[in-house]
Amino acid sequence: SDHQLEYPVRPEDYDWSKHYPAHFPTQPGQQQRFVEFADIGCGYGGLLTSLSPLFPSTLMVGMEIRIKVEEYVHRRIEALREQNKEKAIDEAHSYQNISVMRMNAMKFSPNFFHKGQLSKMFFLFPDPHFKKRKHKARIVTSTLLAEYAYMLRVGGILYTVTDVRDLHEWMVKHLDEHPLFVRMSEDELKDDPCVACVMVETEEGKKVERNQGDKFLAVYRRIEVDPSMD
Ligand code: SAM
Repeated sequence: SDHQLEYPVRPEDYDWSKHYPAHFPTQPGQQQRFVEFADIGCGYGGLLTSLSPLFPSTLMVGMEIRIKVEEYVHRRIEALREQNKEKAIDEAHSYQNISVMRMNAMKFSPNFFHKGQLSKMFFLFPDPHFKKRKHKARIVTSTLLAEYAYMLRVGGILYTVTDVRDLHEWMVKHLDEHPLFVRMSEDELKDDPCVACVMVETEEGKKVERNQGDKFLAVYRRIEVDPSMD
């Protein structure tokens, strides 16, 4: 349950320095740092730890609703930072650019992020909510896609992976129907290092791998409103 969670009224009210102490406060002449990648329902943090050295100067956050899981990821990141603390913050493998927060990502996400702040959002192996009457609990719905489009900048990328074909088809249907997202082709994705990470680096992805299950990938770009539609 999430009733005891606190949310900032506006993004500027939230203190990110506790998440990325090496990146705050901003030095004179330096630009203020903002989180750019959000891993929604991050689970045990495998994606964050694999992306961290690939994008060492990008701040990333995992959002996780389960207390124990959030605490685990928190400790995991602390340990990685400790083991690598002699490394400079801009150097890969310092793990100063990743963090986790406990929250219900289906509620109040726009209270944490400014419009267009995010360049990537990840939805990896989200809970399938198989039963029809539970479909409204799915993390990709038309209502939530409007929020994701608000937080993602034009050109930003939304990644989805699941082993559940029905959920894959559901996410593709809703994303295809949304005017602010367009599906990216295999060719557009062939040089994107995130694709390999989203497929194999999360704990759930590894489990599916061990069980030789299917993995369905669908990646969408946030586009500008078609001016002719205004
Ligand atoms: N993405 C991870 C991976 O691939 O290993 C975890 C996948 S796990 C099947 C789904 C995760 O989403 C769980 O850890 C669950 O607690 C989390 N979750 C479900 N609903 C959520 C919500 N509304 N906000 C934040 N996290 C949520």
